[in-house]
Amino acid sequence: MILIDGKKISLQLQSEIAQEVKDMIAKGNKQPHLAAILVGDDPASQTYVGSKVKACENVGFKSTLVTFEAYVSEQKLLAKIEELNNDDDIDGYIVQLPLPRHISEQKIIEAIKPSKDVDGFHPINVGRLVLNLPTYVSATPFGIVQLLERYNIPTDGKHCVVIGRSHIVGSPMSILMAKNTNLGNCTVTLCHSHTQNLKEHTLNADIIIAAIGKPNFVTADMVKEGAVIIDVGINRVDDVTKKSGFKLVGDVQFDEVSKKAGYITPVPGGVGPMTIASLLKNTLIAAKKEF
Ligand code: NAD
Repeated sequence: MILIDGKKISLQLQSEIAQEVKDMIAKGNKQPHLAAILVGDDPASQTYVGSKVKACENVGFKSTLVTFEAYVSEQKLLAKIEELNNDDDIDGYIVQLPLPRHISEQKIIEAIKPSKDVDGFHPINVGRLVLNLPTYVSATPFGIVQLLERYNIPTDGKHCVVIGRSHIVGSPMSILMAKNTNLGNCTVTLCHSHTQNLKEHTLNADIIIAAIGKPNFVTADMVKEGAVIIDVGINRVDDVTKKSGFKLVGDVQFDEVSKKAGYITPVPGGVGPMTIASLLKNTLIAAKKEF
């Protein structure tokens, strides 16, 4: 079994990005600039945005954090988005989700200029992904593709089972794995909460990508010998031995499944660290105005 080290690959990617930034600046280009909008004081969102801003500093990007109180009006948020859309110094920006209930996430996402939508959530960018046109691939699926690439995991002609069909992970993942490109060309089965006999599908899978949000959901009896297991889940479970009172586990029962898997990502340290590196990569693409 080979453990896929997302932390290591993420650091490699970040040092490659940092080098590219140095080269760009040496050639007289401006510093890439990522902005983030954070609404409210949800601790998880604050942590995520904080790590994204810190990662920008590490690779030599400029970053701007725009914060609003949870009661900000939709109109005020839309006005800020319009401002960022028109600010030539900002190459890309993200709006940290979830937003408070009185704000329509869809309306906000659709207001982002597609060429600055480095999260890849705008319908135009999702459409471009489906059509196999250059676009910003949302960070988590992009991170997974890069892990498969860096570990030279063959995908051509393989059967890939994606579990979960969310807009940010499962659905784009299924599209990427089926694409007619070097990394892709899989036969994809997209499973979800209405799938019957899930185990029949997973037992036939060469590659399983689990994005369900249920701790230890994928068990060893569901997995074929030698399969590639990508665990996207981040779930908190009680753990009295930890000071915090909890630990993080994935959607895959790691101890058992790792004995059968050919490759497996751990949680933490697998897919998670790749998400931020991918956001940085998208920002670099935005700064280079590649499309
Ligand atoms: P989501 O809740 O939006 O979607 C979960 C999906 O799982 C749904 O499509 C649902 O149909 C499917 N599902 C639920 N029960 C099922 C069942 N019994 N059988 C088959 N399918 C079932 O979740 P999400 O936003 O895609 O996130 C999934 C997990 O990945 C969460 O744990 C989340 O924290 C984690 N996540 C991690 C990263 C990262 O950077 N590593 C990024 C995003 C999400």
